[in-house]
Amino acid sequence: MMTSDPVLEDLNPNHIARQQFDAALAYLPELTVCPGMADWLFEPERIVKVALPVRLNDGCVHVFHGYRVLHSTLRGPGKGGIRFHPNVDEEEVKALAAWMTLKCALVDVPFGGAKGGVACDPRELTPYEKSRITRRFIAALGDNIGPYTDIPAPDVYTDAQTMAWVYDTYSMMHPGDNNLPVVTGKPLDLGGSPGRAQATAQGSLFAAEHYLELGGSPELTGLKGATVAVQGFGNAGRNAARLFSAAGAMVVAVSDSKGGIYDPGGLDVSKVEVHKDETGSVVGLEGTKFLEAGEVLEVPCDILIPAALENQITAANADRIEAHVIVEAANGPTTPAADRILNEKGIHVLPDILANAGGVLVSYYEWVQNLENQQWEEHEVLEKLRRKMQRATERVVTKRVALIEGHAHYQEVLRRRDPEAPEMPVADLRTAAYVVAVGACSATATQRGIWP
Ligand code: NAD
Repeated sequence: MMTSDPVLEDLNPNHIARQQFDAALAYLPELTVCPGMADWLFEPERIVKVALPVRLNDGCVHVFHGYRVLHSTLRGPGKGGIRFHPNVDEEEVKALAAWMTLKCALVDVPFGGAKGGVACDPRELTPYEKSRITRRFIAALGDNIGPYTDIPAPDVYTDAQTMAWVYDTYSMMHPGDNNLPVVTGKPLDLGGSPGRAQATAQGSLFAAEHYLELGGSPELTGLKGATVAVQGFGNAGRNAARLFSAAGAMVVAVSDSKGGIYDPGGLDVSKVEVHKDETGSVVGLEGTKFLEAGEVLEVPCDILIPAALENQITAANADRIEAHVIVEAANGPTTPAADRILNEKGIHVLPDILANAGGVLVSYYEWVQNLENQQWEEHEVLEKLRRKMQRATERVVTKRVALIEGHAHYQEVLRRRDPEAPEMPVADLRTAAYVVAVGACSATATQRGIWP
């Protein structure tokens, strides 16, 4: 078994994003011939940092720090969520923005990538304080966001209500325009799209289901009866637990920031939801075993759905993962060192840029509806989402087969350039997804050329 020293693992999300990007370059010789091209595709176009003075309810002023990174507009306007979390910093937002560019390219929506965040702990803020931070952030960003330049959406600890404040603030600054397309994930009666609330998890389900239909995992033929563990019980995780359960899977463990719960006989997800709404946590539901933070990842199950934060599956715990398939509803939950260990163990990882793309897909549908002043039916949205997720899953699976078949060729090309080049690892699903996504960005860059 490969060992990896967890102490030496670099957990900077932007370094991790670059490592994942570089792993794909070995299969894209057109980019390695001219390294500047690869740098162009990886480096963010614009980074905005703002200091936000906000008066809190106790009368004191606190200065919060906000970031908005526009990673790429090569394939369309930037698109990406706004996160409120104490750990938000520039490196994290850069990584999340780069992943958005690649995700949009992979599922083929005409957006680039962006992301934003404010370092704060919303669990300690009142709704009014949260609204003042949101409004001050949007005012500070000014025309760095806009319906045709950079379009925010919800992410960790922001929701449809936060997006309503984003819209309202932007709209106050741009009276007389149709400002609805400036932000997605809005409430339904404020231009939101049917299906957006559960879109991320629904997309994860469509991808997982189709991956199994395509014969991706020898141990699993479908979701019926499969055991599932979910880390995170917010927008992505809670909806995933509900939807996978409705599809016939048995959810055995879930967690949130306060810990997890486990029942090998299967949790009643609707009871978990009621308990979470009443107490603020999944922890303490009668008849369940308490799990410490992180233990949810290690319970015996067929499908593991990390749906919380980055760097949850690392060299320190990858060896203890027992699932057959990991469906990354979260962004960046698995480190490159963990990927290598999981690959060796034969665990299939449906990577974030594929598995959680349902959110941006339905955000795109919301944006189109807003531009056209339309509202589509939920079944139309879900059907479009299903087709896009299935096609993207097929693209990744097919690409992986091609990369494995061409392994000797790619290794030889690499050795011709660098005789000391190490043996390339067998391509996993993440590398295949990156080859598709980076390849699409590269093709667009070549077609557009560099101005002037
Ligand atoms: P959310 O704020 O709705 O929920 C986050 C959940 O994670 C909460 O239940 C919280 O308690 C839990 N959590 C926080 N820290 C934890 C920890 N250390 N261990 C276990 N649980 C923890 O956020 P969300 O929108 O569901 O986002 C979750 C992930 O999904 C993020 O990586 C986000 O980038 C990704 N994602 C979200 C969307 C979307 O549309 N909301 C789209 C694509 C990807």
